[in-house]
Amino acid sequence: MQDRTYTADAEPGETVTVAGWVHEVRDLGGIAFLILRDTTGRIQVKFEKDEMDDDLVETGLGVTRESVVSVTGAVDEEPRAPTGVEIVPDSVDVISAADPELPLDPSGKVDAELSTRLDNRTLDLRKSEVQAIFSIRATILEAARERFRELRCTEITTPKIVATGTEGGTELFPITYFGQEAFMNQSPQLFKQLIAGSNVERVFEIGPIFRAEEHNTPRHLNEATSIDFEGAFCDHHDAMDVAEAVVTAAYEAVAENCRDELETLDLADDFEVPEGDFPRLSYEEAIERINATGELDDQLVWGDDLPTEGEKALGDDVGGHYFITDWPSEIKPFYIKDHDDDEQLSTGFDLMAPRMELVSGGQREHRYEHLVAGFEQQGLDPDQFEYYTKMFRYGMPPHAGFGLGGERLVMTILDLPNIREAVLFPRDRQRLSP
Ligand code: ATP
Ligand code: MG
Repeated sequence: MQDRTYTADAEPGETVTVAGWVHEVRDLGGIAFLILRDTTGRIQVKFEKDEMDDDLVETGLGVTRESVVSVTGAVDEEPRAPTGVEIVPDSVDVISAADPELPLDPSGKVDAELSTRLDNRTLDLRKSEVQAIFSIRATILEAARERFRELRCTEITTPKIVATGTEGGTELFPITYFGQEAFMNQSPQLFKQLIAGSNVERVFEIGPIFRAEEHNTPRHLNEATSIDFEGAFCDHHDAMDVAEAVVTAAYEAVAENCRDELETLDLADDFEVPEGDFPRLSYEEAIERINATGELDDQLVWGDDLPTEGEKALGDDVGGHYFITDWPSEIKPFYIKDHDDDEQLSTGFDLMAPRMELVSGGQREHRYEHLVAGFEQQGLDPDQFEYYTKMFRYGMPPHAGFGLGGERLVMTILDLPNIREAVLFPRDRQRLSP
């Protein structure tokens, strides 16, 4: 819009045109206020009924909440107004009238169920707390990108429509690709390795992953954003260092650049950037500590995956971020390298934050024969993955990397109760639109 002034930029003494949504109309009798809201904030528009044109007053005060209007008028200083200024209107234009009945109340005075909010995200996002989450999410992704670039990584994007899944299995969504079966990719794993094996060497990707998770949980989505790293000549320790650096950078950026948003979310006073190195616990220590908490009905034994209650108990015990390293090889995917001196132990690691898995990573198997044998052991047909394994015959350096869940990062940084709060349009078992 030409000559539109943002509400935050309206200075006393000017005549401006502001445009936005009708937050509220307050009629006090002889005087009335329309509160107009735009992306920068709110401004008060004052109507003095006796002194103003009747049509103007009628238009300004008859407009429904959440309608889109533009207002032209003089900006005056007014200490009693919420922002210290108000507009005395010369004209009010109703650009798009809103229905009087709204499915949810953007002023937040009336609470709405999460499902109602997600069905009406446009209205939901007019609330400052919801906007704050997505503004912080953007800052987090920006910080991750910046830190990766500082670490000499190149940003890549890889296909989301694929002929075979990364790990096969039931987690794949099948689609039809010109009459042929294809899948939505569950992870950029194989592609990012293929690029780490070129002399681009260090890459990162921030993009969607698709998982046909069977159950709705507060921390699973069927379409999520994965923050992936892969680096040539890296081992699992290096990959953990990068994961730690990226997660810490996200906290630092939020602390530095999102003070207002944290205030809005009521988190400003307690917000802490994790300090120092994240402890690195072996899987063996992890199960011992979980067993020692006495929280589980059955004691864990070597080889068990960590159940959700176990992760929670350990998280409460350790507090803060920590890695779990040296997993039994059989629990970790076949493309993760085992320790050279112990085939039962893998270089795979998880980063916990603190009660939930945030990252999985490890050093990769870069030896062709071992890799092909791994496919077979996993029950996968190596021929189907020839596009991938072939490149391991033409000079593949040792390499390592990780996948970090973008929404889980936002969720843990902001202590959100449900991962769906961190996605604009979540996909889950019940939700395919909007
Ligand atoms: P979980 O055990 O929590 O289901 P996973 O081990 O299956 O996760 P990975 O394949 O290791 O997940 O993926 C790497 C990271 O991607 C996870 O640590 C997590 O942060 C994120 N992630 C994986 N699946 C999902 C999902 N369905 N929804 C949201 N984030 C996910
Ligand atoms: Mg994992």
